[in-house]
Amino acid sequence: MQILRKDALKKKRILLIEQHPKNTNDRTWCFWEKKNGLFEEIVYRRWGKAWFHAVDYSSLKELKPYHYKMIRGIDFYNYCFERISGSSQIDIIYDKVIRLQQRENEVEVATEKGSYLGDYAFNSIEFQKPVLKPDQFYMLQHFKGWIIETATPSFNDQEATLMDFRVGQAEGTTFVYVMPFSSTQALVEYTLFTNSLLNDELYESALKEYIEEQLNISNYVVLEREFGIIPMTDYAYPKQEGRIIYLGTAGGKTKPSSGYTFNFIQKHVEALVNQLANSDNPFITSSVFGKRFNWYDRVLLHVLFHKKVKGSRIFYLLFKNNKIKRLFAFLDNESTIFQEFYLLNTLPQFPFMKAGWKELFKR
Ligand SMILES: Cc1cc2nc3c(=O)[nH]c(=O)nc-3n(C[C@H](O)[C@H](O)[C@H](O)COP(=O)(O)OP(=O)(O)OC[C@H]3O[C@@H](n4cnc5c(N)ncnc54)[C@H](O)[C@@H]3O)c2cc1C
Repeated sequence: MQILRKDALKKKRILLIEQHPKNTNDRTWCFWEKKNGLFEEIVYRRWGKAWFHAVDYSSLKELKPYHYKMIRGIDFYNYCFERISGSSQIDIIYDKVIRLQQRENEVEVATEKGSYLGDYAFNSIEFQKPVLKPDQFYMLQHFKGWIIETATPSFNDQEATLMDFRVGQAEGTTFVYVMPFSSTQALVEYTLFTNSLLNDELYESALKEYIEEQLNISNYVVLEREFGIIPMTDYAYPKQEGRIIYLGTAGGKTKPSSGYTFNFIQKHVEALVNQLANSDNPFITSSVFGKRFNWYDRVLLHVLFHKKVKGSRIFYLLFKNNKIKRLFAFLDNESTIFQEFYLLNTLPQFPFMKAGWKELFKR
């Protein structure tokens, strides 16, 4: 999408290979943004205020200068494919990619039905599960969501709930978020950061219990269901191999400590497109200074994985003691050292310093 907007790249020809047509609402993306973004037209809902709940603490946060936004998968796919099919720059093939192979000055993409050559391949396929080193973490962020419709007005559609930790923590870090679409419709999502998945009935019974006991809603129907798994890992996903550039989760664009990916993908693609337009190659390097965010992620994963501090306590302290502006900037890898110093001081010193030390010398 971003390449189509760049005049300097109007002569580039692109072949998009996708295994299946994207015609189902298989996910919703939530993220925060200060300004209007590239996909503003299809933002389904946006909220300027959001709740954070812990057992003895509830706070309605003003999100200014940010908005928390939601884009439905199906709207995103329709929007992108409409523009792609109207462009003479891009051809689409529905086929399964089997292998990518670097040639001297090209990349060969082998699919079930054919083979294609290009100057570069931009790949978002994870061909195999990461092979971890013994001391690497691989936790799962897994969630089940229901879009529910209630018989009577039950939600304030101006206020989302980002995290509600007033649910059992026996399995590990567990919270619910609630994204109201109207006074009678909302997405309610039960989310865990753990090492393994639950039985399907457990997600369902937890959602039912939360809706009835925490939201006090007994008369409702489930309109849609969503299930997802996002890796939370310090595995070093490849960024680039020769002329193959890795995108999305397969390129390590999922933030290990939060699972947020959508905005990181947009920022990465913008950097790639700018680089391509300015120097005719898409090879970008990340700043050494920016690598500190990777260390912060590893430290948080370390603390969560080894259960040094409960996730519910970490997020409680972060939300209670930090302004949203500082917290969101930190989670976006866009904070200043000063903001990070303040924010990290709001967390329990000893376990975080110990984890920080260990992670510093791990590799
Ligand atoms: C249900 C769900 C909800 C999520 N919600 C959020 C959210 O709210 N906020 C957020 O920031 N992140 C969220 N994420 C995480 C992340 O943003 C998404 O997973 C995002 O779609 C990742 O983009 P991607 O391009 O890496 O992978 P994908 O979107 O999965 O794209 C990869 C594409 O490659 C295709 N493909 C795979 N294998 C082959 C093959 N062999 N040949 C050809 N094509 C192939 C797939 O069909 C797919 O279209 C969510 C993830 C899930 C699963």
